[in-house]
Amino acid sequence: MPLDSLHNISGIGPKTQQKLAKLGINNPIDLVYHFPHRYIDFSKTVSIRQSRANENVTIKGTITDFKNIFTKSHKNIQIATVTDNSGSILLMWFNQPYLSSTLKVGTELSFAGTVSFYQKRLCIFSPEYGQYSTGKIIGVYPETSGLSSKWFRKAIQFHLTTILKEVIDPVPKIILKKYSLIPIHQALIQIHLPDNQEKLDQARLRLSLDEILTIQAISYQKRKQWLSLKPIKPLKKYPQIDTFIEKLPFQLTDSQLRSWQEVESDLTSTNKITNRLLQGDVGSGKTIIAIIAALLNSLNQRQTVIIAPTEILAKQHFKSFATFLKSQKVPVELLSSSTKIDLNKLKPNSVLISTHAVFFQKHHLEKYIGTVIIDEQHRFGVKQRNFLSGFNPPPHCLTMTATPIPRTISLTLLGNLDISTLDTIPQNRPPIKTYLVPQQKIPDCHRWISDHLKKTKSQAFYVCPLIDESENLATIKAASKEYETLKKIYPHLKLALVHGKTPKKDQDVTLKSFKDGKIDILVTTPIIEVGIDIPNATTIIIQSAERFGLAQLHQLRGRVGRGLLQSYCYLFTESDNEKSLSRLKFLEKNYDGMEIAKFDLSTRGPGEVFSTIQHGFPSLRIADISDQKLISTSQNLLKDLINTSGFDLDIIAHQSNKSLSLNN
Ligand code: ADP
Ligand code: MG
Repeated sequence: MPLDSLHNISGIGPKTQQKLAKLGINNPIDLVYHFPHRYIDFSKTVSIRQSRANENVTIKGTITDFKNIFTKSHKNIQIATVTDNSGSILLMWFNQPYLSSTLKVGTELSFAGTVSFYQKRLCIFSPEYGQYSTGKIIGVYPETSGLSSKWFRKAIQFHLTTILKEVIDPVPKIILKKYSLIPIHQALIQIHLPDNQEKLDQARLRLSLDEILTIQAISYQKRKQWLSLKPIKPLKKYPQIDTFIEKLPFQLTDSQLRSWQEVESDLTSTNKITNRLLQGDVGSGKTIIAIIAALLNSLNQRQTVIIAPTEILAKQHFKSFATFLKSQKVPVELLSSSTKIDLNKLKPNSVLISTHAVFFQKHHLEKYIGTVIIDEQHRFGVKQRNFLSGFNPPPHCLTMTATPIPRTISLTLLGNLDISTLDTIPQNRPPIKTYLVPQQKIPDCHRWISDHLKKTKSQAFYVCPLIDESENLATIKAASKEYETLKKIYPHLKLALVHGKTPKKDQDVTLKSFKDGKIDILVTTPIIEVGIDIPNATTIIIQSAERFGLAQLHQLRGRVGRGLLQSYCYLFTESDNEKSLSRLKFLEKNYDGMEIAKFDLSTRGPGEVFSTIQHGFPSLRIADISDQKLISTSQNLLKDLINTSGFDLDIIAHQSNKSLSLNN
């Protein structure tokens, strides 16, 4: 009988299946890929006399006494005495009266736990007992109500061998040997029931590699598929581009020039379609690269579509593109929910700046589309992919992101993309002075800000956090309330409120007055995070900063420091959690987006940090995606697999269904 359902495993009834489903375990393979998240080493078995305080040990003895006690404070305690031929020890549990039926006086049993003292006697609090949890390294599993680690240890010991018959090792023996890896069956046994630390480490290495390899194999296949597409009519180079670059009001930085050359060579290639990511910190000057790319398309009588994540940003891009491209007579148009235009009338050499509104009108673009440029790509996800694949062949695709992506991540998750990096910031702007402001100092800080704004005639952003992850009613209510409070704190300054639900017309009016200097403090939600450019803003205050990721705070901070005046970022927090505070303090001294991303990665884990880069960030069970060595080993292994004759990479990629939750 094939073991394709938990239903076929004896002892796992419908109720247990429901509980398992809560942990994402829906079939036997899921069960064996449900790994312990930590281990306790109870492999040291000692006589009671040899047991020492603070040690993790297993002891074996006979229960010589068992009491179920109710204290005066209505606590229910179970105390057992266990004796071996060297002495005796107390065992103590809380609120587990049912133990009296298992732990009968006279029973001989093994117990494991950390030795301590109770009323000057040796004691183990809440020890594990029985064959599944003592005398070895035991796994502690992610649990759910009704399914304890003990349940998992038992279930695994009972069923592992049977389930493993369903698991085929995707990596050929010869390659396992080359990389000194253990076979998958051994790895799965040792990850649950490790013989010793060394074998556990080997198992962890093997399973981590499998995880990374799976993602890399998928990226590799996506890339291969993309590379099989050829441009029907490749773009030609034009000398006007060089003249345009020479006549810019500023000189491109070296990394801008290098990135442009990479983009140009992709766009004009005769045998591939561009799929490139341009990454660069806030203010590194990505827009001008996009403008030059648009000009090249236009000279080739091809349309460029720039897609921005918000209407505010689309309008800002519209202005920059129109200004820079005016001398070149390139028609620049804007499409958003408030500015509707007839795309049928778009000229073949036009540049279209759009919000996601364009996703619904792609049929009008089929004829002349050359390149799609996506700003802050992570915000679109699936819709964006569908938009691109709606064309045959797809247009060139350039995505731009200010989220710095550590190399280990890009090599793995974004292996299907070519990457250009802007690693310098043009003009030496002074770093934004950043301060963490605890609750008791907030009033002083308000006073300081008020003086500063008046003295310098500069402006400020005041950012309220999202409540419940999205800009819902609760967020808007909180922001509106904060706005009322702030008006009282700053009676002599002019304040305005903008959030995502503010009607577009009003948003525009308010932002324009802010840009024109008619508003001193703009109270807002993180909708301003991306791209908005107000050089006279010198101050940004972020309320409840602990609720933001560091990468996001860094982005927000990038809203100031765009002019010549010294800029300031105040991180208000009511938190007194040491960990959050030290995370925030990191921003006081660090300005490099990449360093911040790496730190965020190590303190909050990849899922949380990078779900913003890519929808469907795989939830890694065991691999550490910031582990350089692991990533490069996996890359080499993948190359070897590709070069192994007769090896079908699908086997690896398909493993994702079983061992990884990939949903992209
Ligand atoms: P981002 O990478 O965050 O999108 P922008 O493209 O908006 O950055 O550029 C930030 C600012 O720097 C803009 O005002 C832009 O005109 C200016 N800029 C871009 N490149 C240069 C350069 N090489 N020298 C001076 N200023 C530049
Ligand atoms: Mg930008």
